[in-house]
Amino acid sequence: MGIHDYIDKNGGYMKYSGMNMEQVKRQNRGAILSYIVESGPVSRKEIAETTGLTPAAVTQICNTLLEEKILMELGTAQSQGVGRKKVLVDIDYDHIYIYAINIEPESVVIAVSNLKGDAKAETSFKLEGKEAPAVVLREIAKMAKEMAKEQGDLPLCGVSVAISGIVDKAEGVSVHAYGIWDEKVDVASILEEEFHLPVIVENNVNALAYAEKLFGFGKEYENLMLIKWGPGVGSSLILHKELYEGTDRKAAELGHYIVEKDGEKCSCGRRGCLETKVSYHALSKICKFTPDTFGDALEKEEKLQDAFDLFARCIVNAITIVSPNQVILCGSLFKDERVRKGLMEKCKYYDASIDESRILYTGFGNKENYIGPVAAYLRECVLYKK
Ligand SMILES: [Zn+2]
Repeated sequence: MGIHDYIDKNGGYMKYSGMNMEQVKRQNRGAILSYIVESGPVSRKEIAETTGLTPAAVTQICNTLLEEKILMELGTAQSQGVGRKKVLVDIDYDHIYIYAINIEPESVVIAVSNLKGDAKAETSFKLEGKEAPAVVLREIAKMAKEMAKEQGDLPLCGVSVAISGIVDKAEGVSVHAYGIWDEKVDVASILEEEFHLPVIVENNVNALAYAEKLFGFGKEYENLMLIKWGPGVGSSLILHKELYEGTDRKAAELGHYIVEKDGEKCSCGRRGCLETKVSYHALSKICKFTPDTFGDALEKEEKLQDAFDLFARCIVNAITIVSPNQVILCGSLFKDERVRKGLMEKCKYYDASIDESRILYTGFGNKENYIGPVAAYLRECVLYKK
């Protein structure tokens, strides 16, 4: 659903079930900021034309963003045709920093980053043991604040958390973070108490897909499928330039395609899911390897190749259903180029119409660890002050 669906032609807010006025305002701010990130400096007129917001609404939101020093005005550019000059606005990237936190089974990444994904500092640690979620989150907050402090007096405006599993974004709650915590965790409330800043929470794979749309290969395309391999199998869809989450936020869960009759019970509660065959945990039962040695192991071990073949078939099937412009691969098990080449060969074997231009490897490099929360922050735009 695009921004146009929320706003009538007078710039007033249409009723949309499930969204209150504050969420609509956040969406509008997010739409404006995301557009500026994608396009660079723009005029207010162009923002209105592109987002579908009325000029009056754009002026009002931009003025607030200027007051908050999130936007800055940049000189003028000649308007086409007429002699009038227009003022361009851009995000003051050096003015806005956030805590970008990525929580996945086994590892947590904390970065202090601006809204372009340029981190001032980054650290990671392994999630071990079964400490209570609140204890872990408070520890993360403590580490993050210490990191930021070392960077001097940075203007920190918010906290963005990307976490595996099902997330209720509106409430800032991790509903079920498979393999991390078994219970529902009110991540936003716990971290707001620690940081005294607005906190947003998003699914980690959705956040990465949105980052591809804003900063990566997805800039050029309408429809994308992101596949993250390691430790589990995550996937997410951008359809018509927006995240598609489905009715229960479980759309595009490639890892939970059922692939085996009477298969093993999966962490999601179902049986015979792809993840039970090709997650890092499942593959480690066949033979020992690390993400760094996975390419070697795959060349030697036939059972790993069988699992890999199954994964490739699921990817081809997913392409058949969605027909995205691009499939973007990321995650630790795709790091080795031989693995990606192997996947390409298998996909081509099953469907000769698939070629290298259709399946790409993310260009984020190390930023992959924290760029998701940055993009999620821009999308939700909690910069909106309550
Ligand atoms: Zn499953």
